[in-house]
Amino acid sequence: MDEEIRIPVSLPLDSDGFLRRECPSCEREFKWFSHNEGDPNAEPATQYFCPLCGEPSGLDSWWTPAQLEYGYGSAGGAIDQVVKDAMSDLFKGMKGFTYKPNSSFSLDIETPDSLVEPDDMVMVEPPCHPNEPLKVPEDSTSRVHCLVCGTVFAV
Ligand SMILES: [Zn+2]
Ligand SMILES: [Zn+2]
Repeated sequence: MDEEIRIPVSLPLDSDGFLRRECPSCEREFKWFSHNEGDPNAEPATQYFCPLCGEPSGLDSWWTPAQLEYGYGSAGGAIDQVVKDAMSDLFKGMKGFTYKPNSSFSLDIETPDSLVEPDDMVMVEPPCHPNEPLKVPEDSTSRVHCLVCGTVFAV
């Protein structure tokens, strides 16, 4: 069993199509625009700059605690099934041993309620990368870093 298991989790966007993010450096929240897959306007990047503190981080390090919890919860059912399958495969290969899948066996991960994304924060557009708009808390608009290049701008 060395195959990677990928479980798609869809996170809610607000009504403008923004996804809530949390900076791993300053732990404050903002939102970035969620481009559709294959959107030619999406800026190719290997890291993003926090609009609030300007610290760069890898693309996968911006989950809010609620999103992580939601992701694990949604993945729970799928992981459960993979574990069950793996166990029955394992026991099938053993001589003189019968494994009866026990339907009550479960990792006991609850599927969480859907996340709701409120329409809060102020939309700002970096002059250097207007195709990557952001939403930041109202009190943070006087000094915002561009998500893509880190350049500071004010609204
Ligand atoms: Zn930050
Ligand atoms: Zn920029």
